[in-house]
Amino acid sequence: MSAEEEFDVVVAGGGPGGSTVASFVAMQGHRVLLLEKEAFPRYQIGESLLPATVHGICGLLGVSAEIEKAGFVRKLGGTFRWGTSPEPWSFSFAISPRMAGPTSHAYQVERMKFDDILLKHARKVGVDVREQCAVAEVTEDAGRASGVVYTDSAGTRHEVAAKFVVDASGNKSRIHRAAGGERAYSDFFRNIALFGYFEGAKRLPEPRKGNIFCAAFDEGWFWYIPLSDRLTSVGAVVSREFAESVQGDSAEALSRLIVRCPRIADLLSDAERVTEGAYGEVRVRKDYSYRNSRFWRPGMVLVGDAACFVDPVFSSGVHLATYSALLAARSLNSVLAGEVDEERSFAEFEARYRHEYSLFYEFLVSFYDMNSDHESYFWQAKRVTNFADSELEAFVELVGGVASLDGAFVDVESARARFKHTAGELESSVSEVDRSGGDDATALYQSAIMGHVMEQGTQVQAHAVLGGELDAEDVFFPGGLLPSADGLRWVVPAE
Ligand code: FAD
Repeated sequence: MSAEEEFDVVVAGGGPGGSTVASFVAMQGHRVLLLEKEAFPRYQIGESLLPATVHGICGLLGVSAEIEKAGFVRKLGGTFRWGTSPEPWSFSFAISPRMAGPTSHAYQVERMKFDDILLKHARKVGVDVREQCAVAEVTEDAGRASGVVYTDSAGTRHEVAAKFVVDASGNKSRIHRAAGGERAYSDFFRNIALFGYFEGAKRLPEPRKGNIFCAAFDEGWFWYIPLSDRLTSVGAVVSREFAESVQGDSAEALSRLIVRCPRIADLLSDAERVTEGAYGEVRVRKDYSYRNSRFWRPGMVLVGDAACFVDPVFSSGVHLATYSALLAARSLNSVLAGEVDEERSFAEFEARYRHEYSLFYEFLVSFYDMNSDHESYFWQAKRVTNFADSELEAFVELVGGVASLDGAFVDVESARARFKHTAGELESSVSEVDRSGGDDATALYQSAIMGHVMEQGTQVQAHAVLGGELDAEDVFFPGGLLPSADGLRWVVPAE
């Protein structure tokens, strides 16, 4: 069999990871083919998003207005009945100056709708999207991945050549091994999830109505996610040692577990489980916490669940999928443009991706210690992130997905607007800005962007107003790279 077509990049999988990486590469003028096994819209779990995805990634993609228009439930934070505290405690994203104002929320999304918006957007920015096309294998030439073989809806096999193959085909990926590594399952997170959908369930009181609610009970914990006024996603995550509690009929097992968790039982007391359509099934997932030993090899890169995933309690899945997609796109774009060599470019991708994954992993290990209270969870967040400010802020930045200090997670437009608004004060000293009062100026002064900008002096401030890079970063490791001003490539820092 020989290649019928040639592309710069071929992406397997049209979930958030695949659509995002494909769009970011096509936006730089490269030829991208995306092959998706299913016909969209298709069901997927993973409905609670983080501000980093909604404002950072969706903003860079240029899809924020459509997401806003879709009418998803606004998520202002999370509420937990967790640890030693018998009463629920809550956090708001707005606590973090880096998510202040218009970026202080995320959404609870029906993935059928959210993923469809991202896939349609990929088409709009020039990606050749082909649904009902399943990638069967990765081809090789001279020690590097050179394309894929796929089967279309009529069952016909095709071979396409590409300079790079991206595996974004999720946790059931059949091709991740072509990157040369193995999937190592977590010994710590050996949980089983059981989930279904309810109509007519109660809501938390305002202003927490749109929060994700996580409630621990003896065998594990529940998520409770409001997807619309009528629809609620409810899932139980139980530890392997209680595997017998999820044996037998899944719907009956879910009902039994709900009774074991009084707060969830109360919220569902007037509700009925959906029994028809895409939401009519009680589904079971296990062995979903793992990481691959290799994230890339010459000619191939893994993003999202194809590479790694860790327990869903902090809703990090779509964040890790879309953030890794951005990192991979920067590497692909830089190599395709001939600006950075492949080894250096993908070493940057892998270091940043593994770091983000390990932040969540390490923090989650301590969060699963039910003998602690929320103050000690906040302290653990500060420890794993090395965050300089308060414990609570460290926690909120971590669970908002902005702890990695990537400039992409700042809403550049609103930051720039705020920056312009107070441009007069910026020429003065910090204390004058502080004294000028008003929420806007105070928020600006407190923000991490401003902290950094202030350090750099007025020249850098003027540069930011005129459209330069707002959130200049330090290199991640000696010899590392920095994101370009448009966020879509890497640049080699000046000596
Ligand atoms: P996916 O969304 O799985 O997309 C992969 C795509 O590839 C699919 O469309 C699939 O059809 C396609 N595909 C598969 N094989 C092929 C092939 N051979 N050829 C072509 N296409 C193929 N995340 C959150 O952010 N918030 C949550 O609240 C949350 N809750 C979760 C609860 C549970 C129990 C679990 C297990 C996960 C949860 N997640 C959550 C994680 C989330 O589901 C995933 O991390 C996220 O969907 C990963 O996106 P992705 O694009 O990598 O993969």
